[in-house]
Amino acid sequence: MILRSELVAYAHHYLACNEFSDYAPNGLQVEGVDSIQRLCTAVTASADVIKTAVDYRADALLVHHGFFWRAEEPCVVGMKKTRIALLLQHNINLLAYHLPLDCHGEIGNNVCLAKRLDIELLSRHSVGGNRDLLWFGKLAKPLTAIAWQTRLSQVLDRKPLLVEGGSHLISQVAWCSGGAQDLIESAAKLGADAYLSGEISERTFYQAKELGIHYFAGGHHATERFGAQALGEHLAERFNVTHRFIDSENPV
Ligand SMILES: [Zn+2]
Repeated sequence: MILRSELVAYAHHYLACNEFSDYAPNGLQVEGVDSIQRLCTAVTASADVIKTAVDYRADALLVHHGFFWRAEEPCVVGMKKTRIALLLQHNINLLAYHLPLDCHGEIGNNVCLAKRLDIELLSRHSVGGNRDLLWFGKLAKPLTAIAWQTRLSQVLDRKPLLVEGGSHLISQVAWCSGGAQDLIESAAKLGADAYLSGEISERTFYQAKELGIHYFAGGHHATERFGAQALGEHLAERFNVTHRFIDSENPV
């Protein structure tokens, strides 16, 4: 059991939220009960995820994709009203951490990908004023694009879309979870043989071909499932709360 205020203060400090200029507020987005015993984590605060958190009688739901995005309609109407009403009705705190959860060196989405894919981390690079967004490293041994696709399929539980940028083997890779396909040029500049992110745009196909870099679209959701889980486990261990990760069948 921990006070909400203590948990929020700890996460704010642990994730260095002050150091990021983000597209959405990081931290407590919807206020619920004062003390937290049951914590749920998920990638996105969708209605289905919130309903599952209600079933688990969660005191707090911690996600990577919360509400109140910069370009989003700010009014609490329609879909957003339904989601927020469910949280308020059941006194569930909603905590959301976006870029700080991608970049964190111990439990972030990118470091979790490196651990699971056995990538030796060589360097981290800032993008648009935010540090440690683009990661760069080395595979244990060089692999063909198809062999790395197979490896990614096992780890992500989903076959990534591959655009081959040539016939070269993959030794050095760059990666950034989520919707970071447009960092492909930065990845090529670092000398990566392959770049992994979550999504793909029409232009990414030509960029991969013309830059001579293999591109893997692993899935926005699939590449961001590990960070929230790892943070939940970390908080559960530290504060003696129970933790449950709520997965979602999201093919994107
Ligand atoms: Zn994302």
